[in-house]
Amino acid sequence: MDPPRCLGSSDLEEATDDIAAAATLQRGVPSDLVEKMMYDALVWSALHGLVVGDRRVQNSGTVPGVGLVHAPFALLPMSFPKAYWRQACELAPIFNELVDRASLDAKFLQDSLSRTKKVDAFTSRLLDIHSKMLEINKTEDIRLGLHRSDYMLDSETNLLLQIELNTISSSFPGLSCLVSELHRNLLNQYGKDLGLDSRRVPGNTAVSRFADALAKAWNEYNNCSAVVMVVVQSEERNMYDQHWLCAVLKEIYPYTIDTFSSSFLVYDGQTVAVIYFRAGYSPNDYPSEAEWRARFLMEKSSAIKCPSIAYHLVGTKKIQQELAKPNVLERFLDNEDVAKVRKCFAGLWSLDDPDAVKSAIEKPDLFVLKPQREGGGNNIYGDNVRETLIRLQQQGTGELAAYILMQRIFPTASLAFLVREGVWHQDNAISELGIYGAYLRNKDKVIMNDQCGYLMRTKVSSSNEGGVAAGFAVLDSIYLT
Ligand code: ADP
Ligand code: MG
Ligand code: MG
Repeated sequence: MDPPRCLGSSDLEEATDDIAAAATLQRGVPSDLVEKMMYDALVWSALHGLVVGDRRVQNSGTVPGVGLVHAPFALLPMSFPKAYWRQACELAPIFNELVDRASLDAKFLQDSLSRTKKVDAFTSRLLDIHSKMLEINKTEDIRLGLHRSDYMLDSETNLLLQIELNTISSSFPGLSCLVSELHRNLLNQYGKDLGLDSRRVPGNTAVSRFADALAKAWNEYNNCSAVVMVVVQSEERNMYDQHWLCAVLKEIYPYTIDTFSSSFLVYDGQTVAVIYFRAGYSPNDYPSEAEWRARFLMEKSSAIKCPSIAYHLVGTKKIQQELAKPNVLERFLDNEDVAKVRKCFAGLWSLDDPDAVKSAIEKPDLFVLKPQREGGGNNIYGDNVRETLIRLQQQGTGELAAYILMQRIFPTASLAFLVREGVWHQDNAISELGIYGAYLRNKDKVIMNDQCGYLMRTKVSSSNEGGVAAGFAVLDSIYLT
């Protein structure tokens, strides 16, 4: 095996932007050193709350403090070229603005999703709420977005390409900060042995910036007795990520509870200023009409929704694909920003494009077939792309409109130590970088439009999907090269 790549702090500026260099970072670490780092990393995780509910413990998703296990993590940060990092950070405020502007174009949202609506009941329900808000002329003066734009580095083209833009329930602002800290901590201790410098792991501010955005939104609502309501799933093993955010928020604003007025949304006798959704992105979150009624009531209320129904719709895969069509971005952004955004767009096609469908049937490995779903584990890959397309074409019921086609991105694989349930294994892995963004506007006043830290996720290169909660990937941080 090759020796680890030696990167002293003096190399910081001269480091190359070579993607292939990433491959050398985690080779040749002696096994006794791995064991020492493992032990320290597991202790650190337990002491610092880098934890999730343990799937092996029955009520670990409902009762806090019961059945905790460290979150899956990579033992060492993944190298990432600085130029791409900067590019991804620079895109965050532009995407924030794009979401806000596209959300105002109700016709664009309704028209783009009109065929999807016919075949996808979930999207249809979201669109119904959106329509009803249009009917009653509901305007949102205060708009809060907590987004995460995800990217992979494509080895074929050497381009940073966007996987998707999440506008609802962007997860891991809490735990991602902890993994960056864990890695800095390990490199402070073992960096000399590894030839690595902890200062190359960028500080991660996701949790405090998101808390700050929520607090600022609460402030704009201008009712000191109103509360922030967090909507969560009834069973959530990723609850500590959410508790981290709430804990930091409470430090900034220990919001008091007092009066309420009947024209405002009232929950348990308290006026709600901000509704932060960490649920509601999946059909499973709406088991009955009661949940849809609640979602409608929230949208209709004066509370600030994070996200509003329009922001939620902008984050669908279908809108991602529509935005990639010629002359669409131009409607929302100036030319300079259009060029920056377009550069990170992979190939995206609607399934009413017969050439795209034909290509995907011929070469399914070069495509990913995506339904309008969130949370990982929903996409279709490889031979299943071909089978699904042929079947849906034969059915001829318009169901193709429930999906979009995307160019498959192939990141360069490199060795990584993946740690789950106290056990490490080394494997060829690929990574996905998410950049958090927060946007807050009150009428014409933009209060916040910022890049807010990052999430790196790493998974074995043979795995198609990437979710950490879904069990495919581990949390990681980046080592700038
Ligand atoms: P979700 O909203 O469910 O997270 P994504 O679009 O992020 O949906 O897809 C889930 C995972 O599938 C990603 O994290 C990534 O690992 C993989 N993936 C998605 N799109 C592509 C693509 N175009 N090329 C390669 N892998 C992809
Ligand atoms: Mg998503
Ligand atoms: Mg995703």
